[in-house]
Amino acid sequence: MVKRPYIVGNWKMNGTRAMLTEARAINRAAERLVKVEVALAPPFTLIQPICKEAGLIGVGAQDCHAAEGGAHTGDVSASMLKDAGAGFVIVGHSERRADHNESDADVKAKAEAALAAGLFTIVCVGETETERDAGQAEAVVARQLEGSLPHGANAPEKVTVAYEPVWAIGTGRTPTVDDVSAMHNAIRAKLGEVYGEDGAEIRILYGGSVKPDNAAELLRADNVGGALVGGASLSAESFVGIIVAAAEIAES
Ligand code: PEP
Repeated sequence: MVKRPYIVGNWKMNGTRAMLTEARAINRAAERLVKVEVALAPPFTLIQPICKEAGLIGVGAQDCHAAEGGAHTGDVSASMLKDAGAGFVIVGHSERRADHNESDADVKAKAEAALAAGLFTIVCVGETETERDAGQAEAVVARQLEGSLPHGANAPEKVTVAYEPVWAIGTGRTPTVDDVSAMHNAIRAKLGEVYGEDGAEIRILYGGSVKPDNAAELLRADNVGGALVGGASLSAESFVGIIVAAAEIAES
């Protein structure tokens, strides 16, 4: 695992103010487990309250619009997220790619809007089960990276990549550790092609059914710099279990 592990919870479309109890408990764990960088991406409606009540963790959004403002009913721009207190935004999650037909070009435009607004960004990539079964997983992910990664002077410092095989999200299934290593090594090589030597420093998170009991082995795979966690981030108990596993690896 490279650098300080980064463990990010994606709450998806879950959470009302009642969930602030969980955020506060996660914040207390982050205070203790300083070797891990902890963050939550709640729904837009909870960004401000979590910033207020859980000041030791990073807070980000799950999506942004590529435009700065205008006639886009229901959308939120990167600068609005920044104004609400967000420090980063996830772009290109497979649920957005599927539910909203987001292309790689859309994802890239969103990532560049995030950087322009002064946010960090987590760019998600990952193959479907059909693509993996056809032996195309690495080619698909390479193509997504080429099309989705932002360009610009400070891009490599502000970008994190999340490798999330679509078939592992919310299913309880995960790739083998060897498969995770192979994919993360391939992503590292592609980051070198895109960003030159700066690509070596970019964190690559694994996401897809990470739980307290499998976190350690997944986090120990090659070039895994942390985890993007969906379901298991909704309760402080299970999310903190993952943070503890990351802290143990960071200390070893
Ligand atoms: C996700 O949606 O980013 C995710 C990784 O979900 P889960 O952990 O529930 O598989």
